[in-house]
Amino acid sequence: MVYVFSDWTQKLLIDGRRVDALSGRTFDTVDPSTGNIIAKIAEADASDVDKAVRSARKAFEGDWRRMRANERGLLLLKLAELIRRDEDELVSLESLDSGKPVSAIRRQDLPAVIDTLVYYAGMADKINGQVIPARQDALTYTVREPLGVVGAIVPWNFPLMIGMWKIAPALACGCTVVLKPAEITPLTALKIGELALEAGLPAGTLNVVPGFGRIAGQAIVDHPDIDKVTFTGSPTVGRQILQGAAGNLKRVTLELGGKSANIIFPDADLDAAVKAAAAGIFFNTGQVCSAGSRILAHESVYDEVVERLAARASTVRIGDPRDSSAGMGPLVSEVQMNRVLDYIDIGRKEGARLVAGGNRHGERGFYVEPTVFAGVEHEMRISQEEIFGPVATVISFKDEDDALRIANGTVYSLAAGVWTADIGRAHRFTRRLKAGTVWVNTYGPTDIRLPWGGTRDSGFGREHGEEAIENFTEPKAVWINTGR
Ligand code: NAD
Repeated sequence: MVYVFSDWTQKLLIDGRRVDALSGRTFDTVDPSTGNIIAKIAEADASDVDKAVRSARKAFEGDWRRMRANERGLLLLKLAELIRRDEDELVSLESLDSGKPVSAIRRQDLPAVIDTLVYYAGMADKINGQVIPARQDALTYTVREPLGVVGAIVPWNFPLMIGMWKIAPALACGCTVVLKPAEITPLTALKIGELALEAGLPAGTLNVVPGFGRIAGQAIVDHPDIDKVTFTGSPTVGRQILQGAAGNLKRVTLELGGKSANIIFPDADLDAAVKAAAAGIFFNTGQVCSAGSRILAHESVYDEVVERLAARASTVRIGDPRDSSAGMGPLVSEVQMNRVLDYIDIGRKEGARLVAGGNRHGERGFYVEPTVFAGVEHEMRISQEEIFGPVATVISFKDEDDALRIANGTVYSLAAGVWTADIGRAHRFTRRLKAGTVWVNTYGPTDIRLPWGGTRDSGFGREHGEEAIENFTEPKAVWINTGR
């Protein structure tokens, strides 16, 4: 193992300063395209989290709370400007740490991060209450107040973008934040923390504490002075967070997994449908919570869909994420690669037919071939469980009822797609699909203005849009006795 940056150690960011962990411990972060160690990261534990929470509380009660809302918005705009200035560095760091192709980060993640900041910057001074004339003898109204200190726990598949989905609305609302990035992708979160200071955010407004989930993450969940936990990750950890949050009854938003169905009817534009279906599962090496991992094709077009999808899979350019022509990079870690390979093995044993991929690609780095399984039965594990890798399962259906039974027949409800030229059918499906987002004749786009989230094992609450403002504020009712 070599250090990409020899003796490069990244410290925690607490109270406006880069500091070592109180324990002095560090952990390594690894480049998934080579397996090489990139840097040592200071490892936060409960005592560092406590320090960060105290700092966030001080900032919340002090400078941040007293600042006018439009000034908070201006600081977020300044942060967006600095992110644009340092785009090259952020793109490189994100790619190095996560294995995401630089071209995809530049095209998708970075613009989404800036869009998120600009959107919530504009909303900071538009968080209004209501006058509700309840009685003749009183002036009764509401104001929306910031919740306080927010713990943001983020996964590794879109470290920058999902981090910003939490930071931007929380700060716009006047909350302060303790951010814990995933232990395998901590680099860009630390950089964002530094840029926030440079933009002029007061010390303690945004603290960044990389560390392990069961230690630093759990410390956030258990901390009695954190008012809200916003979490994106797996359903297993989501359940643990709910239990931990019971301690001080902190509020929780959970964005969890998915096993989304992408349904193709015979009247669809098959070229467009198959192209989108391939992108829907191979984008980000399948490490997307809303990946269209179950492709449901009507029996009359099933063979054609399978054949075209397999052909597309074989043309995906697997490569070094730093090479701008790479279409698909490695999985994020060796653990994730082995998990995906195990699922491919399970699919074979369950009797599904492998029509593309199925193997590790190369011997260096954590690459897996784009993989397509045909002959998949709804009850198989590869059709029910989230694989979180470039593995498409193609399932045949007979009619609309059959398609709905299969599409709605997992524990998840995050997203779904339907491809049809029949407008009535499109509306029937948007009504009857259990999903937080339904795409019609497209698959996968998201926009910060639209609510994002799911139900059941996909979690609860919504991020994005005006919904996020409710996540970080609560209404206060005011009753002023005026007399008659
Ligand atoms: P994970 O749940 O293992 O980890 C997510 C984060 O939680 C990490 O920062 C981790 O350190 C932390 N964590 C782990 N254990 C913890 C604990 N006991 N207490 C507090 N924090 C803890 O998930 P992952 O492997 O990082 O990400 C993959 C999962 O995330 C998939 O299931 C995927 O579907 C889901 N995901 C969902 C969305 C969405 O918007 N719904 C987006 C991305 C990822």
